[in-house]
Amino acid sequence: MKNQLKLLEALQRHDAKIQELDRARKAIPEKVDKLRADLAKVEELLARERAELAETEKWRRDREGAMKTEEEQLVKAKAKVSQVKTSKEYMASQREVENTRKMAAETEEKLLTVMEASQQARARIAEHEGDVEKLRQHVAGEETEAKGRLATIEGEIAHLKVGRDAEAKAVRADVLKKYAAIQMRRGLAVVPVHNGTCRGCNMNIPPQLFNTLQRGSSIELCPNCNRIIYWDKLMEDPDGKPAG
Ligand SMILES: [Zn+2]
Repeated sequence: MKNQLKLLEALQRHDAKIQELDRARKAIPEKVDKLRADLAKVEELLARERAELAETEKWRRDREGAMKTEEEQLVKAKAKVSQVKTSKEYMASQREVENTRKMAAETEEKLLTVMEASQQARARIAEHEGDVEKLRQHVAGEETEAKGRLATIEGEIAHLKVGRDAEAKAVRADVLKKYAAIQMRRGLAVVPVHNGTCRGCNMNIPPQLFNTLQRGSSIELCPNCNRIIYWDKLMEDPDGKPAG
């Protein structure tokens, strides 16, 4: 039975290594996913900036149309001035010319402001496009690297599993079944008892059970945490006899 316990201990070490690699394997996509989320966020910001610029440009085109109309009105108003017959009509048409000119000047001023804003927005967008492209390349590089690392780890896991299965074959079927059931529930299935204390739950083992453990002729469970327990000194002794 001591041999079985030794096999179980080795199996557990093997399983722990596989679990560790499995955790590392799972962490890889998480890192890449986070980077992808970051990229999506800045891409969304860029899209919003582009949409805002498009809106400003549309407003600018509308104003340009309005300015053209106002310029035409100004030409008509000026033509009217030359055709007036009374001084009252002259005053009225002069006022119309002035008002139209003022409106056109205001529109032009607004247009200049908007054009300047558009230019700044375009420069900002170009800069952000560069940043996004850099991040995109970084993410692509990380993805490639992650794929490589994933393949390496998966290879290691596959290799370890072959060794693990060979080890498991040497363990008695009923013992292996017990081990697997405890591992599923508790993670750690086989623990030493040190100075009469279970290393799995730190509770004291009843003296009678401790005597049984010292013989090492049976598979025993901790009455508190239900893990497979063995006397630590027993495993240290190469002759299979209790030490001390
Ligand atoms: Zn215990």
